[in-house]
Amino acid sequence: MEKYLNEDEKELLSLIRYHRGHFDKMKETLGEMFPDDAVEVVEYLDKTEDLVWNAAKRRKTLKEAQVKHQEYERSLPRLTMCAECESGKERVPTGETKNQHGYMANCYHCEDCGADYVDGMPNNSKEQLEWYKDLEDFFKENQKDIDAMPDKQRENILSFLKGKKTIEEIYKKEQAALKRVQLADKAEEHLSKMLAQSRDYLLSIKLKNNWGDTPIGEC
Ligand SMILES: [Zn+2]
Repeated sequence: MEKYLNEDEKELLSLIRYHRGHFDKMKETLGEMFPDDAVEVVEYLDKTEDLVWNAAKRRKTLKEAQVKHQEYERSLPRLTMCAECESGKERVPTGETKNQHGYMANCYHCEDCGADYVDGMPNNSKEQLEWYKDLEDFFKENQKDIDAMPDKQRENILSFLKGKKTIEEIYKKEQAALKRVQLADKAEEHLSKMLAQSRDYLLSIKLKNNWGDTPIGEC
């Protein structure tokens, strides 16, 4: 779990341990006489430590969910055409890389000719929309040639554009999910500020070293 802590939280935990160690010693010495305000500070240390570990746990859960989602996405078979022999089939991606157009795209292995190739189409909705835009522009520029094509060939080419609507919907959903993550980040930012204040407080009382320095029984 430690790897999900940020530097501020690590510092805060070490301050909590420092102060707790001090109070443990005080308790040993004072026993029943352990003062109420010290009990309150010990409770504050416990609560703050819980907040730190809860923040780390949330980060771990989020990270694991993201990785799982990416792995799931990567495992889905997609309809793709081999760049070497042009055999079109559903294939499971073997990885991802930038393709010749600069888009992030899936790598595939063609079982028909044995070639490994990179898909021409991007593998994420944002770049897929750019890809469709380029395709539409290309069709517009070559409208005359497309009109002159045999019906079947023209329909095949134009059917490519139908996929755009689905991608737009996926993109919208992804943007909504992103917004939810951003809101969660804001809540996290608020918590981080709170924990930074706790760290400053604990650091200031450490510097003052004002716990237990007053001899017992004296003011
Ligand atoms: Zn092939």
